[in-house]
Amino acid sequence: MEAFGKPAVLRVARSVLKTGAVCDHCLGRQLAQVSTGMTNSERGRILRKALKAKKSRKKCAVCSDIFRRLEKYADNAAKRLLKIEFGTFVVGTRLSGDMIAREESL
Ligand SMILES: [Zn+2]
Repeated sequence: MEAFGKPAVLRVARSVLKTGAVCDHCLGRQLAQVSTGMTNSERGRILRKALKAKKSRKKCAVCSDIFRRLEKYADNAAKRLLKIEFGTFVVGTRLSGDMIAREESL
């Protein structure tokens, strides 16, 4: 938790938030190297709180709020898997080039 109070960490977090509406998940992912053992959303919430920055009501400029819809995507995948007999499976994602570019621009 000490790492979150370091000026360099807060400076990066502040600069990420200045780029526009960024959700906690995307904020936390930008500083994933700061701490382990927590989710990106948790890390982002801690950083936002440390900066006393309010959550934006706008869509996240990086992920377009895709992380808010994860449960819906998981439910959809689970329904589709019910139709298939399997012993193991691998899950992958394919992000749009636009989303990757927005993330990298931060
Ligand atoms: Zn986001």
